[in-house]
Amino acid sequence: MAIKIILAGPRGKMGSEAIHMIHNESNFQLVACLDKKTDEKPSFPSGIDVPVYDDAQQCFNETKADVFIDLTIPEVGYEHTKLALEHEINAVVGTSGFSEEQITDLTSIAENNHIGCIIAPNFALGAVLMMQFSKMAATYFPDVEIIEKHHDNKIDAPSGTATKTVEMIQETRKAKAQGHPDEYEIVEGARGADYDGIHVHSMRLPGLVAHQEVVFGSNNQLLTIKHDSFHRSSFMDGLKLAINEVLTKQTLIYGLENVMDLNK
Ligand code: NAP
Repeated sequence: MAIKIILAGPRGKMGSEAIHMIHNESNFQLVACLDKKTDEKPSFPSGIDVPVYDDAQQCFNETKADVFIDLTIPEVGYEHTKLALEHEINAVVGTSGFSEEQITDLTSIAENNHIGCIIAPNFALGAVLMMQFSKMAATYFPDVEIIEKHHDNKIDAPSGTATKTVEMIQETRKAKAQGHPDEYEIVEGARGADYDGIHVHSMRLPGLVAHQEVVFGSNNQLLTIKHDSFHRSSFMDGLKLAINEVLTKQTLIYGLENVMDLNK
């Protein structure tokens, strides 16, 4: 039986790509969408005609679904995900920018309802490997800075991928104060954001999609681990994996690496 899916954000760049992916997968079935406006329907591929709701509560009450996918903005994505879990619908969240408190809150709702939730700051499998390789490298190279580059329609900074990379690096990196002890900024922000002792530089330009470099410095050597997503289709393999995996979970999993087999 096909996995029945509700998707929020169908007119967005990620959402429209996800609709095509769902349409092309024989074991996935789109059953409803959650949109900001319902006066004009999103441009669905031919053969898809599903109800579009602007009220999440009504959507979850009226639609029988196995998985809810959120690809919107953090302010509404959190409320959608919370409601989906309360309705015992598994959730896959690509929306970035949830706070730690919101993730803790969603974890307890998922566990209390014995339902799965996967929040993935990056669905590109190459980006997940970039984060994993960075965690390995940090054991030997504690001096590190991150440069993340995204299209100029992205409203949150730094990216969820960059903050997740810092968190993963900190699992293996020995604590170290980086840079010159007397370093100061002539222009505020020149050294980027300081996230848990690691500098993160965020670039926003038209033409970019999603790119990140993790640069490790050491004595006469530099190690750069770099990943580029050139098109949103690069996120779809990971989204597919998350949809299949979330059905087997009864808790919240943060990060796609936790459902990938990386120990071979
Ligand atoms: P986007 O093109 O701006 O799409 C966001 C969509 O959400 C827009 O269509 C927006 O509608 C819609 N939206 C806003 N409020 C809504 C509401 N109340 N109900 C339903 N839909 C609503 O952005 P995107 O590039 O697709 O990215 C979407 C999210 O995914 C962002 O948080 C982004 O950071 C994240 N992202 C994640 C990954 C990953 O791999 N995990 C990759 C890329 C992006 P309007 O345009 O009418 O406001």
